[in-house]
Amino acid sequence: ALRPLLVGNWKMHGDGRNLPIIAAIGEAAQRHPGVDVALCLPATLIDRARDACPGLTIGGQDCHAEPSGAHTGDISALMLREAGASLVLLGHSERRRDHHEGDALIAAKVRAARAAGLDVVLCVGETAEDHAAGRSADVVREQLTRSLAGANGPGIAIAYEPVWAIGGDRTPEPTEVEMMAGLIRDTVSGVRILYGGSVTPDNGAALFEQGGIDGFLVGRQSLDAGAFKAILTLM
Ligand code: 13P
Repeated sequence: ALRPLLVGNWKMHGDGRNLPIIAAIGEAAQRHPGVDVALCLPATLIDRARDACPGLTIGGQDCHAEPSGAHTGDISALMLREAGASLVLLGHSERRRDHHEGDALIAAKVRAARAAGLDVVLCVGETAEDHAAGRSADVVREQLTRSLAGANGPGIAIAYEPVWAIGGDRTPEPTEVEMMAGLIRDTVSGVRILYGGSVTPDNGAALFEQGGIDGFLVGRQSLDAGAFKAILTLM
């Protein structure tokens, strides 16, 4: 079995006052050496988090496909790496939605991140409409093929995040997660598979034990050190 991986995604939350939360998560990670723990932070917090908890894996939440250039407001994979990140989230549904990111652009970002030495957590997942129409498997297979462009292996993790399960209180049944994890495993080799979308300490055990996954990508509950530690303890 692959080593479990727990990733927190702070999205557009957090500033210097939240460094104690990051430190508490870093300490919990050290007490659970059997699980890889990472926090994907706003870029403004990466170097301070690295200095405050050298043992914690820090990630960014996006990067540009180019190493540098005239791209106001963007950040490159090399910049993330230099600031202290060792991984980056790519293709999150909020970036697909808010910044109209498509699979070809995401594939270019995956290549840039790998070239800069960053691990990648690629997010895929169907919308509510696709889910209702029974198209989840086709959508996810297509996202994987087009946005990974052949990347595979231990530097890549795939987060299955159904768009309809993010930010609310609904999750798929563990059997449904297990089916999608199987599909991902059949499509990409040697990657860890995470589930994301409204993971809590309460629903985490069933999803982890029955979902056929290697870990979680956690949004809101990663902003609370106690809740995040409780999820870590389930793994
Ligand atoms: P929530 O855990 O807040 O639903 O967010 C999930 C997510 O989008 C993580 O990337």
